[in-house]
Amino acid sequence: MSNVGNKVVIITGASSGMGEATALKLAHNGAKLVLAARREDRLQKLQEEIKKSGGQAVYKVTDVTSHEQMSELATFAHDQFGSIDVLINNAGLMPLSALNKRKIEEWDRMVDVNIKGVLYGIYAVLPYMRDQKHGHIINLSSIAGHVVFPGSAVYCATKSAVRDISEGLRMEESPESNIRSTIISPGSVVTELSTHITDEEQKNAINQIEESVGMKPENIAEAIYFAINQPEEVGINEILVRPTGQQ
Ligand code: NDP
Repeated sequence: MSNVGNKVVIITGASSGMGEATALKLAHNGAKLVLAARREDRLQKLQEEIKKSGGQAVYKVTDVTSHEQMSELATFAHDQFGSIDVLINNAGLMPLSALNKRKIEEWDRMVDVNIKGVLYGIYAVLPYMRDQKHGHIINLSSIAGHVVFPGSAVYCATKSAVRDISEGLRMEESPESNIRSTIISPGSVVTELSTHITDEEQKNAINQIEESVGMKPENIAEAIYFAINQPEEVGINEILVRPTGQQ
């Protein structure tokens, strides 16, 4: 069996896109999945699909912007399976727009989900992982954590923050508590992410990139699987995956 087999893995944002593809990939390889997101119908359907193909999965409706709900999710995972080996902080939002559009409610939501959601995930699982003396936290950043595009300032800032938080986590926890930290930085992937963009100009630009070069969520699931599948003494710190055709 691979190093993924029997690991207890929490995935936030498991109801679509890369979270869903990663859940299927890991379940197929023997992991015990704890699926989290807000849309219960989608989580239920995914759980059924995993169970039908012989995998193990439970789900809990969770909003990552609530640290209470994230703590309840960690307790639920531990009660169900007896450990928390991996947390994938994958939930995210990308309502792009230029700063002068002053979409302040969208800025707030991006900060709440993309930054605070990641912090609340770390907050919730760290006590369990420190007790266990092992664990692995995987945070979804982006190419947008490396470069800034016009119209993407706030989103890019949130994804840079995710990289900084992940690196801080690695430096603090890896040597002391044997907790690994991995940043996953994808380029364009075709998912539901762009459907929430309210600025037509930005939406068209992103749709054009997705249509011409966008990767499949399964391509990123492979990268996440690779990071989890390493032996315990090997930490994959960051994986940056661009479509071959993306600048
Ligand atoms: P999707 O829109 O398909 O998935 C986003 C997920 O986040 C959904 O499952 C959604 O579930 C969940 N989510 C959103 N808000 C919350 C919340 N408040 N609480 C809990 N869950 C929430 O997009 P992707 O699969 O593309 O995105 C996954 C991650 O990858 C994101 O962090 C994104 O920023 C990042 N990324 C995406 C790229 C792309 O090109 N698609 C490129 C680089 C990075 P629900 O609505 O049910 O709560």
